[in-house]
Parts: sequence; structure tokens; C-alpha cells
Amino acid sequence: MSIVRVALDVPLPRLFDYQADEVAESDIGCRARVPFGSGRKLGLIVAVAAASDQPTEKLKPADAILRDMPPLPADWLALCDFCSRYYQHPLGQVMAFALPPLLRRGKLPRPRKVSGGGTPAAKSLPALLPEQQVAVQAIHASGGFAAFLLHGVTGSGKTEVYLRAIDAVLATGKQALMLVPEIALTPQLEQRVSERFPTACIVAAHSGVPDAARARGFLDALAGRADIVLGTRLSVFMPLPRLGLIVVDEEHDASFKQQEGLRYSARDVAVLRAKQLDVPIVLGSATPALETFHHAISGRYRLLELRHRAVAEAPPVVRMVDTRKEKLQDGMSAALLDALATRLARGEQSLVFLNRRGYAPVLACPACGWISRCQRCAANRVVHLADKRLRCHHCGLEAGIPRACPDCGNQDIHPFGRGTQRLEAALGERFPQARVLRIDRDSASTPKRWQALLAAIHAGEADILIGTQMLAKGHDFPRLTLVGVVGADAALFAADFRAPERLFAQLMQVGGRSGRHDLPGEVLIQTEHPAHPLYRALAEHDYAAFARAQLDERRAAGFPPFSFQALLSAEAPEIGDALAYLAAARAAAVPLADAQVSLYDPVPMRLFRLKNRERAQLLVESTSRPALQALLAAWSERLRALKAPRELRWHLDVDPLEF
Ligand code: ADP
Ligand code: ZN
Ligand code: ZN
Repeated sequence: MSIVRVALDVPLPRLFDYQADEVAESDIGCRARVPFGSGRKLGLIVAVAAASDQPTEKLKPADAILRDMPPLPADWLALCDFCSRYYQHPLGQVMAFALPPLLRRGKLPRPRKVSGGGTPAAKSLPALLPEQQVAVQAIHASGGFAAFLLHGVTGSGKTEVYLRAIDAVLATGKQALMLVPEIALTPQLEQRVSERFPTACIVAAHSGVPDAARARGFLDALAGRADIVLGTRLSVFMPLPRLGLIVVDEEHDASFKQQEGLRYSARDVAVLRAKQLDVPIVLGSATPALETFHHAISGRYRLLELRHRAVAEAPPVVRMVDTRKEKLQDGMSAALLDALATRLARGEQSLVFLNRRGYAPVLACPACGWISRCQRCAANRVVHLADKRLRCHHCGLEAGIPRACPDCGNQDIHPFGRGTQRLEAALGERFPQARVLRIDRDSASTPKRWQALLAAIHAGEADILIGTQMLAKGHDFPRLTLVGVVGADAALFAADFRAPERLFAQLMQVGGRSGRHDLPGEVLIQTEHPAHPLYRALAEHDYAAFARAQLDERRAAGFPPFSFQALLSAEAPEIGDALAYLAAARAAAVPLADAQVSLYDPVPMRLFRLKNRERAQLLVESTSRPALQALLAAWSERLRALKAPRELRWHLDVDPLEF
């Protein structure tokens, strides 16, 4: 009689032992069907042992060991184990998350019809530019783990470097994993990869892949059939027995961090995985995360730079428009309106970037002070004139727009501030001859509508685009020559210490939409702070100057990457309960924390009420990652044992990005 130790998808940080006949070490990594409570569960065998801590006769026997797919390899189990410890998440839940739903339920997808291998198209590749050559060589020569930061603006030929590096790895019979942000995984990229590797088995993995295909892709990867896995953050958990290279494109992108359940950073896990397997990893970006850039300039990562665009074209000219000196018209300066008129006359496209959807952020009564608050959140409901609703952007609560003030009956109530819909209306009035197209989550609410909008832009059916950050990434509009930025100043002075980093990346990206081809591009930034270093660095296309200045500020303030953080959040119907839980949690941490760890006071979150639940948080910080990790391991056990009202929920976020 042996014992199998099984990881189950339950919110408990432990494994479960069962009796089993005829099991061997080779069954580690197989799924097992076991009795649990009054039902049955499917789990993963993580160990086979001769004896348990509990008396064997007290253990229930496992129902079945499923050997219908290859066992998950030891390095995959080790990766899940690392994530479980590092992110303080039960191992069984990490594994359940990493497995495709079909396999988690014990099913196998029907095998795919095998299509005949195509013949490699003998396409001639462009000769690499010198800097690309250096990069490809360095990656190829790494001979084991090395982390590279490939820093280069859009169009500098980063993707070409990835493809060459992947080519070299495939040639040695190994697999490559390429991670991209959700929104960047366009059919164009998939096509570019499959055209380059026509005989390779390529597995795409993202939220749009149906369950059966996802399970098939996972099995292809596990069996070593897949040569390339191209996917979003979840693909970092693909089992790849012959993995030889990892690429993370747009590595700074916030979508690599999951904000619920297992709050992991796919980029960080990818680096760990590369180290674990002793293979190189390439992190690419035009605006690297400051953590990554810090590693690159301090020598932990190797910096590879592409300073020039691959296709000869000048970067756009970036100018600040000082809005302190003039009265704006519908939020727009004379300089911006003139520039728009010029593009219209020339038949070129313009984009006005305003990262706030809706018509106006609030409706208010000047007579009594009523404003359109959300009853469920600590936020205002936004005026949506397109469908005549007041809508909360946090919880979705909506209602019609009142004709008069609900409190005092005053009929003279107004929208205040400006969103994309209001800008759309204003531009339509000012340029009646122009075709104005608004692109935000409201107008592009489904993938189909989004594709239709993109098609219209490409077909030249729009003169002026108004867009939120949806439009910033990855799109190439040949006739777009002007980008106007409106309302960006707020992010300069936001409470979140990462706000400037995000703003810089966003503006760099949106500015890069202009002048991508033979037509020169121009970016106009309306601001009351034209001399701000962030804007100056942007105008000079100098990411490094911006990053170094930010890192100096972070060092002085003791913020990441010069410290490591974890955030304990609690939510309950009453803020008092959330704060009381955090106070008790803090008290429990005090005896566990060594001198290198700082425990802050519990505070209400900025959006302290969301969907009728009130939220507070407690920040823990240390200059030593091991010291922080040691505290978290001991602390999370205590947290589970703390008394709390039944409706209270809490979670721990390690290396949080959002506060
Ligand atoms: P990035 O990923 O940095 O945006 P890409 O690799 O997509 O850059 O390259 C931008 C454009 O330049 C693409 O059209 C690509 O085909 C082209 N390109 C890249 N490298 C070269 C090269 N060495 N010679 C000629 N064209 C190149
Ligand atoms: Zn009123
Ligand atoms: Zn709300």
C-alpha cells in the first residue's frame, strides 16, 4: 500500500493524502479522482510516499489515477509550487488555475485533425541592422539563463529580433514561449509568426481560444509537439519539456499582472522560469517597467538597445501647447484646432486622445450642490449622452438622466468636465465637413464592433478619431499624422507613484501612432505644465532620461524597485469591520516581522466603497525580499485564523501594481 499526496482545488494551504494501490514515482504529475467531503474531486498527484503523517487506515482510498495524458513534468510542478509560496496562494488552486478547464474536469479534447506540414516558403529575410545583429547574437550566445532587456521604440525591429532568436532555438530542436499583452495579440502577429515558421507547430493561447482548443494546445505543449506557444499571461504556465527561449513583448504592460485570484505577474514568473530551466529570456519594450530598467542598468539584466527605426522614418515632432495663457474652446486650444483644420485640408487623419469615456464625469446642480453620486460606490456616475444614461464606471449601476435636480427640483442642472462623447460632439460642430469617429469601450463594446471601427479607420472612412487608450496600442494607421493629447495633466500629480510611468508609456505609445509612413507625424500635448520633465523627456524621445529621473525619485522615497511590497486588502459591508480586521492583522504581524520590514497603518482605499462593500488596505514593505517573504509565509497562516465577520473578504497581493 502506498500513499498519494494530492493537490486539490480548495482554499486551504495544504495537500491531501489518499491510499493507492500500484502507484509509482512515475504517477507524480498525474490527475487523481478522490473522495472529498461528501463528493468527489479531481486533483494532481504531487508526491507518492510509503507513509502519511496520519495513520494509513484512516485515509480514504483514491478512486482512480488518470493516466490518459502524460504526467505534468517536475519543472511544471516546481513552478506551481514556487507561485504558491511566493504569492501565498494554495498549491491546489495554483494548479487548478494553470490547467485548462477541460483537463481540470478530467476530460480530454478530441484530437485535432493533423494537417499536412506545409513546405517552408523560401522567403528572403531582410538583412539585420547592426544593433539587431548584436541582439540576436547575444541571445544566441547566452548558453543558459540570461535576462535581456530589448529596448527600442515601436518600429525599431524588436519583433524581427524575437523571430530570429526563436528561429535559432527551433533549429536546435527546442521550444519557444512568447508572451504578449492581451490586446497586442492581434491576428496580424499570429500571422507574422506562422508565415515565418510555416512548418512549425504553433499554439495560440489567449482568452479568445475556446475550451477544447485550449486543452489541445496544452496537450500539444506537454507532449512536446508544439514548437512555439504564443499567448497572453496565462501561457507562462504552459508545460514545455523542451523549452529553449522565453520572449515577453511589451513587458511593461499591466495586463501581465493578474488582479484577482492568483495575483501573479506573468513577466516575473517568466523570469523565474527561465532561471529555473537555465534558458535565456528576452523582455522587450519601448518603455520598460522601471523595475526592469533598473535591473538592466544595474547589471542584473543585459541591456540591448535598438536606437533607430528599422524602416527609415523620423520620430514624430512632439510639442507642448501651454494652456495657461488662453481660453480653451470646448477644451481645445487654438493650436490644436488649427492643426486639425490643416490635416482636414490635406486629407490626412488626426487622433485626439482623451483617456476618459462618457460625455462628462459628473452631473451637478449649481443651486443645491447635488451631484450624480453612485449609491453603491464612492464615485460619481458619468453622464452618457449617447444613450442618455447616468452610469457608474465601477459597478455599472445606471439610470436615466434626470431633467431636474432630484433634491431641489432646479431644472438648470449641468454636466461638468469632459469625456470622449463631449469632445466628439464639439468636434462635429466645429468641423461639420469632417467624419468624426469615437473609439472607446462604449463604441467598441464587442470584438465585432471594434473590428468594424478598425476597418473603417483603415479604409480612410474617418478624418478625426477620438480615442481612449484603446487606440494607443499596436495599430498602424498610414494616413494618421496628428495626435492631440487632451487632459493628461491629472496623471502628473496623481497619488499613485506609478502614475507618471504609466502616463509616459501611454503618451509614447499614442504619439507613435502618428507619422508611421512617408508622412511626418506631429504630437501636440495640451498642458498647464509645459516645462514638466516628463513632457520634456517625451519631446526628446528620451525614455532613459525619464526613467533615471523617476528612479532617483523612487530611491529617495524608498519605493519599488528599491523596496518590496505586499498589500493586504479587506472588504466588508462596513468600513469599520475592514479596518478592524486589518488592525488585528497588523497586530498579528508585529511579532513576526523583523527589523527590515515596515508595517503601515490600515487605511481606507481611495475608492473606499465599491458595489456596497467598503474597502481598506494595509501596506507591508521591506528593502529585503527574503525578509518580506519570510513574514508573508508566517503571516498568511495567522490571517486565516483571525476572527472576522462572515461577510468580510480579504486577500494578499504580493508586488501589487494597483493601490
Ligand atoms: P517592433 O517590434 O520594434 O515594432 P518590427 O520588428 O515589427 O519592430 O519592425 C518594424 C518594421 O520594420 C516591420 O515592418 C519589419 O518588417 C521591418 N524590419 C524590421 N527589421 C528590419 C530589417 N533589418 N530590415 C528591413 N526591415 C526591417
Ligand atoms: Zn439641486
Ligand atoms: Zn457604482
